[in-house]
Amino acid sequence: MLIAIPAENDPAEGRVAATPETVKKLVGLGAEVKVQSGAGVKSGIPDQEYALAGATIAPDAAGTVKDADVVLRVRRPRAADIAGTKQGAAVVAMMDPYGDIDALNSLAAAGVCAFAMELMPRITRAQTMDVLSSQANIAGYRAVIDAAAEYGRVIPMMMTAAGMIAPAKIFIMGVGVAGLQAIATARKLGAVVTATDVRPTTKEQVVSLGAKFIAVEDEEFKQAETAAGYAKEMSAGYMAQQAALTASHIASQDIVITTALIPGRPAPVLVSAAMVESMRPGSVVVDLAIEHGGNCELTKPGETVVSKNGVKIIGHLNVAGRLPATASALYAKNLLAFVETLIDPKAKSLAIKWDDELVKATLLTKDGTLVHPSFQARDKPASIVENSMDQLSSRRA
Ligand code: NAD
Repeated sequence: MLIAIPAENDPAEGRVAATPETVKKLVGLGAEVKVQSGAGVKSGIPDQEYALAGATIAPDAAGTVKDADVVLRVRRPRAADIAGTKQGAAVVAMMDPYGDIDALNSLAAAGVCAFAMELMPRITRAQTMDVLSSQANIAGYRAVIDAAAEYGRVIPMMMTAAGMIAPAKIFIMGVGVAGLQAIATARKLGAVVTATDVRPTTKEQVVSLGAKFIAVEDEEFKQAETAAGYAKEMSAGYMAQQAALTASHIASQDIVITTALIPGRPAPVLVSAAMVESMRPGSVVVDLAIEHGGNCELTKPGETVVSKNGVKIIGHLNVAGRLPATASALYAKNLLAFVETLIDPKAKSLAIKWDDELVKATLLTKDGTLVHPSFQARDKPASIVENSMDQLSSRRA
């Protein structure tokens, strides 16, 4: 059984789908592992380390995936990238499946079994495979580091001979995995931290991390969490009350980090241009939701813009990928945990259990067809996508 690790095509992608540690484990499972030369360089892993772990190094992508039974990648490949893999081979990646049916169809046409790691159910058994959490955790940390780097002042309180420096005030909007890590990181740096979310369960989490919780806690707030544990889209009335509450708070903040997402919907706009204008010059907004449209009205994807009043608004894409070595280490472990369920260690061969709930939830293509129920029609309404996401994660721990 051959497992292939090609290099990523996107020059902006620094992550890699295997590390020497996971290669060693795959070899231990009886696999032959082939890594494309240079695949790990941006994550600080030279070819030699993969070779020492038991991999063979292939000079190019075609030579890496030729005859592979399993291809592990960070991002969705083009059909040409996997030409030469066996029919029925498993291709596992973060497939970014929403909004590009043509790309999914071309994977189907390539005859591979494409698995989207983002669709992994968030159940206890699959916690080690949860790429959304592993990458969001890194992004939440990096958002605070990026903010601190752009902020022209120190974060902690300092008592110096030349005078006292007040600690920075950091406001985290959206307290999922990324937001919780952002709170923890900001606290460790010594900031005075406040946070908001629409899900009531987040209140206790925020307080337990030593931050203050701020939210409109009305009847709608009490019902804001879906059975799957995600936020509902809030009513216009709630959003207006939330905006009124947070507007005065944001005016006194030095750094605002936004992470708010609603599955299957554009990210809610929580920070208006007027709110940015109310902040003092030199303040920073980091918008982690930019890949889903952004939480701040002024964010531009991939850019740092400076508002008229001198506030920096950071819209980095692929924020987890800004710490490629750590992000790769965690992602590679997520993949290893999933791949272990796809192979038969005794026969040392690919043995996909089609009835396994993890397979059913993540399998996009099989036998030349796009098989995943959520991606059957080109113009699937967002509500159907959301419902299916809720079903996929309805057995969350
Ligand atoms: P996410 O990325 O979907 O959203 C980020 C946060 O934005 C959420 O907390 C959400 O409530 C919040 N949000 C949405 N609209 C908002 C608004 N208008 N104002 C303020 N905040 C808003 O969330 P996530 O990080 O994927 O986490 C979602 C849930 O899943 C959490 O409860 C998390 O603890 C849970 N989780 C469970 C498991 C597991 O059981 N294995 C694993 C990971 C995450």
